[in-house]
Amino acid sequence: MQEGMKKILEGLNDKQLQATTSLRGSTLVIAGAGSGKTSVLTRRLAYLIHKGVMPGNILSLTFTNKAAAEMNSRVRNLLSQSGLNLPQIPVWQQDYTQSPLLCTFHSLGVRLLREFGSFLELRKEFTIIDSDEQKKIIKKILKELNISDKNLHPSLAQYFISQCKQELLTSQNSRKVSKEFLAVFHRIYAKYEETLQASQAVDFDDLILKTYLLLNNYQEVREIINTRWSHIMVDEFQDTNPAQFEVIKLLAPKHLLQSSLHHNHINQYRSLFVVGDDAQSIYGFRGSKVEIILNFENEYEGTTEVILNQNYRSVQPILNLAEKIIDQNPFQKKKELFTQNKDQIDVHYYLANNERDEAEYILRTLKKLYHSNSSENFNNYQEEETQFIPDDIQDIPTPKQPTDPVSSMFDVYLDSADFSPSPISATTSTYNDYSAFSKINWHSIKELDQVVILYRTHSQSRSIEEIFLKNNVPYRLVSGVRFLERREIKDTLTILKYLSNSDDKISLSRFLPLVIEGVGPKTLQKMLAYLEDFNYPLAPKHINQLMELLNKIQSVWSQNTSLIDLTKNILVVTGYMRYLKKEFPAKEEFQTRVDNISELYSIMFPFDQDQLIPLQDRLNQFLAQVMLMTSQELSTENDTPKINLMSLHQSKGLEFETVFLVGVEDGLLPHSNSFIEPKGLEEEIRLSYVGVTRAKKHLYLISADSRIQYGQIKANPMSRIFRPFIDTYVKRDV
Ligand code: ATP
Ligand code: MG
Repeated sequence: MQEGMKKILEGLNDKQLQATTSLRGSTLVIAGAGSGKTSVLTRRLAYLIHKGVMPGNILSLTFTNKAAAEMNSRVRNLLSQSGLNLPQIPVWQQDYTQSPLLCTFHSLGVRLLREFGSFLELRKEFTIIDSDEQKKIIKKILKELNISDKNLHPSLAQYFISQCKQELLTSQNSRKVSKEFLAVFHRIYAKYEETLQASQAVDFDDLILKTYLLLNNYQEVREIINTRWSHIMVDEFQDTNPAQFEVIKLLAPKHLLQSSLHHNHINQYRSLFVVGDDAQSIYGFRGSKVEIILNFENEYEGTTEVILNQNYRSVQPILNLAEKIIDQNPFQKKKELFTQNKDQIDVHYYLANNERDEAEYILRTLKKLYHSNSSENFNNYQEEETQFIPDDIQDIPTPKQPTDPVSSMFDVYLDSADFSPSPISATTSTYNDYSAFSKINWHSIKELDQVVILYRTHSQSRSIEEIFLKNNVPYRLVSGVRFLERREIKDTLTILKYLSNSDDKISLSRFLPLVIEGVGPKTLQKMLAYLEDFNYPLAPKHINQLMELLNKIQSVWSQNTSLIDLTKNILVVTGYMRYLKKEFPAKEEFQTRVDNISELYSIMFPFDQDQLIPLQDRLNQFLAQVMLMTSQELSTENDTPKINLMSLHQSKGLEFETVFLVGVEDGLLPHSNSFIEPKGLEEEIRLSYVGVTRAKKHLYLISADSRIQYGQIKANPMSRIFRPFIDTYVKRDV
């Protein structure tokens, strides 16, 4: 075997090797957490290229942009170790020959719509609107239709539209399949689509729906795409929704896969390679369907199924617990995981008094795990004695022996008063001014990057952050809020969107009220109406005022050559900086807002590196990228070691040496919402499985006797998902 190829396949077990070297047809790798699914997908990508597949013929779909970027760098490393170097092409550039495309479904949608949007009467400068903008449009439509917010909540209409789109129903055909009593929703949907079309805008669901329409309805587009990408790969396949699966079917049509089996040249091979774990399907609430992975072979007959069962991530006690947790789901595909790692490190459980004790337990544990290794000299540090009161949870009733495990767990919850979260009204915080750990130099502990704190809901991060801040513990919060949801960022993007797409009246009418000065609300309304219809009666002086502003906006095109300057300039000439100052007169607050905008400049910087790309194109590319990214992906902060804080959902696919799973309580994990959702508990069990399997070595489960939740003290019992395994699979800490 060639040396290069050896590098790519080095260390793989037999099953992994079988999957990595599958060159054509459809392959499904279905396997438990940490068994190397993502690794196999990455290696296979490098393997295909090494075997002579044109890099540009490979499309690999990942769940986040960050995962795509990581995979990209791993493939490049593997290839360069094996003696092949792919050209460095910025991810946003369209080069479909020299480089594989690794991206999310949504980014693929943006690319295809920019390229082929004209089939759907979409100009390549189209803008992407977010949920907030959607809501504004719907509110306006409700007003026009004389429907009060009280009779029909805008978010209900928004939900309806999104559901239709996720089922691939356009506003023209949604009527055909749903009931007459939904007539008003159909009218709203139709008007909503008209508004978006007039503004040359699309929403997030459109990125999938319109991609589907392009590929399904236009043979010429399908042919170009099917010629371009002959090898399609998908990671985290268990969280695919039906619309995305329809897109996959068009990208990798069965008949083409079949016929490629008769060819003998590598360039004529075609493949669809998907990897996933039904036990980790956690996006059901967003429409993903675990049935897609379970029934994959019905859709693609003759699929090669590969099951990986060696785990390379976690020590055995963690795997034992993970297996017990997932076994509570009766309908999960049974998979056993083993590891050759002989370390017997216990999984721990701690019942904290409250959320402060929860955070302090984390610090005590980290001190034990990592502080003695740190280079720091802590002579003058003396830990304050903390009184630990052993807690007893013996008297919490254990669930009845289930006949049908899932439904009987519901019964137990509903039957037993002890299981319901009991609100005790509270007005005062239980925190004292206490900082037992502040003398430790946490910044010197380089292992902090390998530590994660996982929680079910983002609101749980607050109490932990509070203790960390008091004790000067560095942490990195992977927030649930999209970066662009910050007000000043949103405003800046809004005006940039209009600049990029002058049809985008949605953005313009959002921005204008911020910067038009000297007019009352009524006149402002008239000005906005005039923008939509130039026949609307408006006083000449206000017409002039409007036109002057629009001219100023357009003038920035000719005055700047970089995106950064263009943005700075537009914020000044439109008077936005003046507005921001007025809104935030306190110097510090204003500076924070300006700094946030500067963060955008750091993101723009790479786009400005190639001045040969027209400024307009750079702006489009930047806007598309920024709209699809989360705060985590956009963060430009310096990377000193920090403890990671994130939700269980965000931890998918990641791994850490040490995991603290906090709030292991009924009402949090499982979340109280899951009690009313059919199959809700099953998804919470899968989510728990995901959390537990992120840990390589150390796993700590924590629940609190009482905690402040939504402004009240709540006493949640320990989680029913974990309770049966404490003391057998998990060691109790006091
Ligand atoms: P998840 O289900 O959480 O997404 P996964 O199945 O994708 O997990 P990977 O993330 O690919 O698993 O791999 C888990 C860990 O195991 C990684 O650290 C990876 O480097 C390591 N690993 C995978 N295969 C091997 C192997 N053959 N030899 C050594 N380490 C391996
Ligand atoms: Mg993975």
